[in-house]
Amino acid sequence: MAMVDVTIRGAGIFGLSIAWACARRGARVQVVDPFGPGAGSSGGLVGALAPHVPENWNDKKAFQFESLLMAEPFWRQVEATGGVSPGYARLGRIQPITDQHGLELAHRREGTARDLWQGHAEWTVVETASAGSWCPPSATGFVIHDTLSARMHPRRACAALVAALAVMGVEVIPEALDKGAVVHATGVAGLQELSASLGTVVGNGVKGQAALLRFDAGQVPQLFADAIHFVPHADGTLAIGSTSERDYDDPTGTDTALDDVIQRALQAVPVLHGAEVIERWAGVRPRSKSRAPMLGNHPLHKGQFIANGGFKIGFGMAPKVAEVMADLVLDGRDAIPEGFRPEASL
Ligand SMILES: Cc1cc2nc3c(=O)[nH]c(=O)nc-3n(C[C@H](O)[C@H](O)[C@H](O)COP(=O)(O)OP(=O)(O)OC[C@H]3O[C@@H](n4cnc5c(N)ncnc54)[C@H](O)[C@@H]3O)c2cc1C
Repeated sequence: MAMVDVTIRGAGIFGLSIAWACARRGARVQVVDPFGPGAGSSGGLVGALAPHVPENWNDKKAFQFESLLMAEPFWRQVEATGGVSPGYARLGRIQPITDQHGLELAHRREGTARDLWQGHAEWTVVETASAGSWCPPSATGFVIHDTLSARMHPRRACAALVAALAVMGVEVIPEALDKGAVVHATGVAGLQELSASLGTVVGNGVKGQAALLRFDAGQVPQLFADAIHFVPHADGTLAIGSTSERDYDDPTGTDTALDDVIQRALQAVPVLHGAEVIERWAGVRPRSKSRAPMLGNHPLHKGQFIANGGFKIGFGMAPKVAEVMADLVLDGRDAIPEGFRPEASL
């Protein structure tokens, strides 16, 4: 590519989404990743786009809320351009309520959700019996139902972006020199390099393991039960996950920790008994020290940019991360929340 306005290093969900937002605004973009698109934590299979609890509002929750609302048009446009489906659908989420305290909290949050979500989505307490046949038993007889949560297939979402970018003339290539503005979206490798160069830990990796079952739940809400996400995908598979491991030797291997998640999943949702496990997968989430996304000016490379720290909700954050980064990189307009700047982790 002769003329390049933006070079993006890293073809995970952050890098690809930023490339997409920049290309849509007319910039000439190249994406560089020696391992290929979706090679890092974005190549997984869970894909729960679920909100934070609707209370104690802050920048992070507001940003994520807006991003979840942006997801529908974002993914529709990606699919319409490249012809590859990311498996997106806003089907909501069900969370069994296990005790009286949880029930009281959930009722209180019906009110805070009304205020904070302003009619864009609902958070309601409903009887288990009215939540559909897929809904597992709950000790209180009640579940939380929210209409904001969506699901999408992470690996396919990366493929959908790659296809849409190709239509816009943007390729993902294994290596290239820096040209134009440079954005580093290199996931956990980027956090480790930054920590080593600065001599202080600005973030680290948190490994997660997940499994894919052959189970066609249909077009139903995802579940969150016993701290496990159950995500029914469009293709007749169902993802369950994940572990959260600060210490790990093998970043991409799966082990008995995943067996345990699968066992607990079967206990929580008995209808899954007998479903075949068709894939076991692990990846390392990039977690900044502040736990928030790390967006803005690169702390080391003057004049360059960083987009990292997606941690557990990188897919949910991606549509808005892409917009604020394109604002900054192309227009010099800085709409990044204070707590998301790299300084928050230095
Ligand atoms: C088990 C598991 C379940 C998850 N579930 C969900 C979920 O349900 N919902 C959700 O929103 N999020 C979820 N996440 C989190 C989400 O996957 C991450 O937040 C997201 O993938 C981070 O994206 P990224 O682009 O920053 O990093 P990555 O996807 O890791 O991408 C970084 C890329 O940089 C490349 N790279 C490395 N070094 C270089 C270099 N020097 N030059 C160029 N490229 C380089 C790598 O090859 C990689 O492709 C989950 C994560 C895991 C592990």
